[in-house]
Amino acid sequence: MSKELRGIPAARGLARGVALKWMSADLEIPRFTPDDLAAEKARLAKARQEAKKQLHALSAQVSQQVGDAEAALFEAQAMFLTDVVLVSRAETAIETGMNAEQAWHQACEYFAAQLENLPDETLSARSVDVRDVGRRVIENLLGVHSRPLLTSQTILLARDLTPSQTASLDKTKISAFCTVEGGPTSHTAILARALGIPAVVGVGDEILEIADGTLLLVDGTAGLVVSNPPPDLLADFDKRIQSERELREQEAKFASQPAVTIDGHRVEVAANVGSVDDARKALEYGADGIGLLRTEFLFLNRSQAPGEQTQFAVYSTILALMGTRPVVVRTLDVGGDKEVPYYDFGIETNPFLGYRAIRLSLDHPEDFKSQLRALLRAGTKHDLRIMFPMIATLAEVRQAKKLLDEARGELQSKEVDMAKDVQVGIMVEIPAVALLADRFAPEVDFFSIGTNDLTQYTFAAERGNKRVSHLHDPCHPAILRQIKKVVRAAHAQGKWVGVCGEMAGDLQAIPVLLGLGVDELSMSPVQIPSAKRVICNWSLVDAQKLAERVLDLDDAEAVRKAVG
Ligand code: PEP
Ligand code: MG
Repeated sequence: MSKELRGIPAARGLARGVALKWMSADLEIPRFTPDDLAAEKARLAKARQEAKKQLHALSAQVSQQVGDAEAALFEAQAMFLTDVVLVSRAETAIETGMNAEQAWHQACEYFAAQLENLPDETLSARSVDVRDVGRRVIENLLGVHSRPLLTSQTILLARDLTPSQTASLDKTKISAFCTVEGGPTSHTAILARALGIPAVVGVGDEILEIADGTLLLVDGTAGLVVSNPPPDLLADFDKRIQSERELREQEAKFASQPAVTIDGHRVEVAANVGSVDDARKALEYGADGIGLLRTEFLFLNRSQAPGEQTQFAVYSTILALMGTRPVVVRTLDVGGDKEVPYYDFGIETNPFLGYRAIRLSLDHPEDFKSQLRALLRAGTKHDLRIMFPMIATLAEVRQAKKLLDEARGELQSKEVDMAKDVQVGIMVEIPAVALLADRFAPEVDFFSIGTNDLTQYTFAAERGNKRVSHLHDPCHPAILRQIKKVVRAAHAQGKWVGVCGEMAGDLQAIPVLLGLGVDELSMSPVQIPSAKRVICNWSLVDAQKLAERVLDLDDAEAVRKAVG
């Protein structure tokens, strides 16, 4: 009998395939009293060492297949293997006469439970990683490794997939993922999106009642799973799969073309980049440039800030890859949910309203100038643009520009070659800046609207908090009106405006942004071909009419309905 199940759309696309449940069976963890406690500790150390090697190999594989940001997940997992608190808890348990498997299991469970109880969602979600690492070490101790047997066209059903499970599967044989648990930002969802595999998460327990071998249809865009589809639905789905395939082929052609509307208006389509590998992807998917280089990737997961030379080397590599295409580099944006151990953030009740981005940089002028010098040196033969994040006041822009002048002066005094005519812009992420855009415009060369934070601060709804995620749609007229204000103010003074929040790659939002007069859209590289296709199929005049109409609607839902 045919059955429809609904879940959360996690990665777009359609798939037809055969169900295979992957119940990573609960591991039987043996309990015994070892004879030789020192040998037991050594056994645990060896299993941890093996796990470390496996995770580094997995990280290298994911870095190649998906990207550095996703690979970092496994490097972060590997760090748990040497965590002093975790390891010493397990070793102390062995000293009391417990075997390695039990000792490690109990230490990991204790650690995971502590993380789970933290109010910060990002930190509490790391309990999944601790359990994943925990299981890997125990599997090494027991010499067992569970992986599903895949044939082609498998639709994998699971309670939840841990990052290492998802990454270690043979992607060529998986048409889709469906899970009982998980949300749109769960590891499975993130990896599935990056791999281009449709996924529906959070479907509920019913998904595991489907027998292996059942024919399934998955719509990752709508969050729909259909088992034993009736012939008419199957035929219709096959047609849609075929036209989706054709669309992808068409989109691939758009990648190498400029994005020009039917009536001849050009929009720059750039990439958001967070690693050297992302820059390569940007080129592969046809980016006109980099609209947002998030430099944090250089600063996270290390014990001290990277020096000028280290930064210079990485910026040079990325700029060289991009040639003469524009590259907008955002200065350091840590704080909020991205802490680093070498800056003291104090105790913050609301980190997103606290010591973050430009606020921290202005407070550490020497570190800030070191980043600026590295950029100026790397940008000599390129179209380098520098952008300051989380600007709230005119005084901050002026201070940041003063420090940029100082960095230039320092290089000049040493007769070091540096980039000339560097455009300097700011991110519009705080409503105060959108409201005063006409006052900011004379001070900058461009604005780039960070709709992720702008939405968070407009609706007072934290971006990572699932309970308030219904307040997080940037298509709301409250955001659209701010964008209109910024574009007006900028254009009146001959400056350009980009959007680099997730909204820029949202196919429904693109015509509205186009109509509001946004000059550049910057998005994840894989989204570029579809975005270009949408732009090429609209006329600017129609987009302007649409934008005017939706500005007067009540909410984001109404705006999305109007776009269709
Ligand atoms: C934004 O806030 O929209 C943005 C692009 O910056 P980030 O997501 O890095 O905070
Ligand atoms: Mg931001």
